[in-house]
Amino acid sequence: MSDYAIGVDLGGTNLRVAAVGADGNILARTVLETEVSRGRDEVINELCDAVTQISRQLAQAAQKSSVEANGALLGIGVGVPGLIDSETGMLLESPNLPGWNDYDVQGEIERRLQTSVILENDANVAALGELWLGAGRGMDSLCLYTLGTGVGGGLILQGRIWRGWNGMAGELGHVNVEPQGHACGCGSWGCLEQYASAKAVARMAGEALAGGADTELREVTNGALDSLAVYKSAMRGDPVAKKIFERVGRSLGKALAAMINGLNLPLYVVGGGVSAGWDAFAPAMFDEVRKRSFVYAGTTGRDGQALGGRQRSTRIVRARLGGDGGLFGAARLPMMGKALAGVSPAVSSPARPL
Ligand SMILES: [Zn+2]
Repeated sequence: MSDYAIGVDLGGTNLRVAAVGADGNILARTVLETEVSRGRDEVINELCDAVTQISRQLAQAAQKSSVEANGALLGIGVGVPGLIDSETGMLLESPNLPGWNDYDVQGEIERRLQTSVILENDANVAALGELWLGAGRGMDSLCLYTLGTGVGGGLILQGRIWRGWNGMAGELGHVNVEPQGHACGCGSWGCLEQYASAKAVARMAGEALAGGADTELREVTNGALDSLAVYKSAMRGDPVAKKIFERVGRSLGKALAAMINGLNLPLYVVGGGVSAGWDAFAPAMFDEVRKRSFVYAGTTGRDGQALGGRQRSTRIVRARLGGDGGLFGAARLPMMGKALAGVSPAVSSPARPL
């Protein structure tokens, strides 16, 4: 067996843990519900128990197999939602994990498991996972949008996570797409998150119903509006549901166009639960990107191939790893080593007068 790492993806609703070989194969895995309401100590207990269990499973499997012995554990990588101080491994702030602010998650897990742990933001690890084994395989840079309950983002530049000056880079859901749009939890308004998240899809459907729109959503959803129901209605041709997903696509297209013009990366990946509605929103998204980004329109034909005379196209694709992107990315962290996994801009020396 090759050397392996343990990846942990700690979400607001699920806790996924897997041992992943250096070749990308899952050697053992488990998924538990995260009962955030039971408090952080309980969740950390469960997390550590799950890691210990996975290690035991591996040891037992190795005992049974007379051919190959276990490889070495390279470390544990943990993806968590929230703002992390990458120097200290402190979770500074997390809207999805109430009561965890200013908590030394990395130190606590290290203390309990007596092994080294690398903590990283969940969207960043999902981006790293897609780069390693998903849509970005073979590339060295990409930008990931995760359309989940909210909208998150991760940037990988030249093989490393881009954390930014304060570790706050990748807040792609809070880019403005509607100048006077819906108020956002971040304090701004008209953010992408208000038009392209699962919550936003449900809200827009609710607004349409409240406005008396003629739509099957009134009957099929039975009052329980969720983004999947709206997607299914859109695919059945319901004009109101179609319009909602078109708005998702146009909003995402505006945000993408700005990123493409600004960064000129080779690849933009769209993941998260709402990306399952790709067929319903992608046509509007591509249309908007083409209209608003001359970098995209100038490099990429309507077939997605590089335009004549250009060597390189700009690709926008669906994520490939589904809910496992974060798990693979978390496992990848210890394989890369802390310094290689992420990069923050170096503190420059004060400018000297000429
Ligand atoms: Zn916002």
